[in-house]
Amino acid sequence: MLINHDTRCALDAVVDLVNTAPGNGGEDRLADVAALRRFVERNAVSDIGALGERDLAAVRAVRARFAEVFATAGSGTRHTAELLNTMIAAAGTTPRLTDHDGYDWHVHYFAPGASLADHLAADGGMALAFLVVAGEHERLRRCEAPDCRFAFVDLSRNRSRRYCDSRTCGNRLHVAAYRARRKEAAS
Ligand SMILES: [Zn+2]
Ligand SMILES: [Zn+2]
Repeated sequence: MLINHDTRCALDAVVDLVNTAPGNGGEDRLADVAALRRFVERNAVSDIGALGERDLAAVRAVRARFAEVFATAGSGTRHTAELLNTMIAAAGTTPRLTDHDGYDWHVHYFAPGASLADHLAADGGMALAFLVVAGEHERLRRCEAPDCRFAFVDLSRNRSRRYCDSRTCGNRLHVAAYRARRKEAAS
């Protein structure tokens, strides 16, 4: 699958955003504006001004929409397409070529002056739309470790990834399975 750098970055930001949600009784990692600012910094989201409580609420709402897209990824394209169309239309897009910060030419979709929430919905939504067009949205996965369930995009060649990026997930389960087998063999 051909996926350019900027699409990849937008997908990474979507995954990071979805994974800030409180899952399995955990805490919300987007608890306040400071956490929102850290999210923007670690994902190098460009053209973002001052952030406030209103941004926090709006970004959390967008996060819920992205989580829905992940939830529908395995169950047919139509629902996913409808979710993305609604999201992208609400965000308002202005595709334009840019070579900011030394990157190669690529297209930004968020409108100039867009809020952070609209920015994420426009560019993240378009990156996901490209996956749908490529017939690849089934690559949107949730980690199979039962106590994790983190979202990730499986970019492996044979779409075989089952666990999220935190390598501990796959390893932890392998170790547990190994121990169980040994125990069985010993009894
Ligand atoms: Zn860019
Ligand atoms: Zn995991």
